Amino acid sequence: MASRVCLVHYHEIGLKGKNRARFERILMDSCKAALAAFSVSCITRISGHILITFSAKGEAERAMPLIAQVPGVARCSLAFHTNREPAEYCRAAIDALAEFGPFETFKVAARRSNTDYELTSMDLNRQVGEALCLAYPEKKVQMREPDATVHVLVVQGSVYVYAKSVRGVGGLPQGSAGKVVTLLSSGIDSPVATWQLARRGAVVVPIHFSGRPQTADTSEYLCQDIIEQLAPAVQIGRMYVVPFGDCQREISMKTPSDLRVIMYRRVMYSVAERIAKIEGAKAIVTGESLGQVASQTLENIMAVNEVVDIPVFRPLIGSDKQEIIERAKQIGTYDISCETAPDCCTLFMPRRPETHAKMDAVHEAWDMFDHDAMIDYLVEHVEYVDFTAPVYKRPRAMRERHEELAPRTVVREGDAEAGE
Ligand code: ATP
Ligand code: MG
Repeated sequence: MASRVCLVHYHEIGLKGKNRARFERILMDSCKAALAAFSVSCITRISGHILITFSAKGEAERAMPLIAQVPGVARCSLAFHTNREPAEYCRAAIDALAEFGPFETFKVAARRSNTDYELTSMDLNRQVGEALCLAYPEKKVQMREPDATVHVLVVQGSVYVYAKSVRGVGGLPQGSAGKVVTLLSSGIDSPVATWQLARRGAVVVPIHFSGRPQTADTSEYLCQDIIEQLAPAVQIGRMYVVPFGDCQREISMKTPSDLRVIMYRRVMYSVAERIAKIEGAKAIVTGESLGQVASQTLENIMAVNEVVDIPVFRPLIGSDKQEIIERAKQIGTYDISCETAPDCCTLFMPRRPETHAKMDAVHEAWDMFDHDAMIDYLVEHVEYVDFTAPVYKRPRAMRERHEELAPRTVVREGDAEAGE
């Protein structure tokens, strides 16, 4: 009797030469974390794929769409696992084609990873092809661009047969590309930017600036919803929350109104850089898109960027709003982002913000309040919310120092002990 398994395909990590084993291990860990709610019995490497087996019936079918969302997965196939009996794997091939969906043309693509099996790939193609022609006499075999391809993979004592597969998100497994902090608002753009960096293999640590205590904490909960929506395929272990309302009030009272937004952002970037250092993160990520709003002109981006030394990545800088919306819908964050909540962006907004800031004026305004003391204060009073995410390693310094400092530390389920 054939059992059902998932076969994970990966493109990019196959190209990584000597690092390949490391990348495969990280991808296996990612799949394991994503499937924590499933009864996974084994995750292992076979012949250029990752094989995932389950102990409960029906789980491979249910897990397939979730696995496809895991960064690093190029494709996920739902396969039948049989022994080497021709009757068994030919039966599986017939069933695989049956569940493929509508098709008119098909072919068989067989491969054996070890040569101790007496049949060659060509023999297997012919043998399975004949069985399929008998089962589907009205369908045609076509070698070039058939509607359906039945893959037959012989690995040691096992045969894996599949026709149905879904495309994965691609990219690299999270944890293979270091750590970044991301400036996360509950808007449409920054969740997409965060997801993009996670897809490139980064461990992402969001920082949210809340308008609290001048506003309610609704935006903080929306950000939590966004993180929970991206999970479990994208792992986020901690979100920092910076209650920024009182400092914004101070800035709004002490600096010219047209430069306020730039001042807020310079403080936000500075705090983000400090948290990045504590976290061992090597870049800041934002959801900025050129010209989208007043603060996202080249002059203003420059005026903000100069306060930090580490790289600032803006993966959406050249994206059109419609493209960003489409991606937000695809990753499931769009509806959450459409819920309006006041955050620090909506607080103390000037009627006419400067769109082309002059550096001299910016520096003058920057010195109108004690920015260093403000940044220190905000870093000292940062709060955080933890989520279950094995890929995230908590910085030890922060944990010790903030055990009593963070008044609203919420630890969500599990909260595995880590530390660097
Ligand atoms: P978004 O939809 O991501 O909020 P936006 O189009 O509303 O973006 P801005 O409000 O100008 O644009 O924000 C630009 C970027 O600054 C955001 O993409 C995000 O990275 C960061 N940012 C804005 N507000 C906050 C906040 N409250 N907390 C953390 N980061 C923020
Ligand atoms: Mg915003």
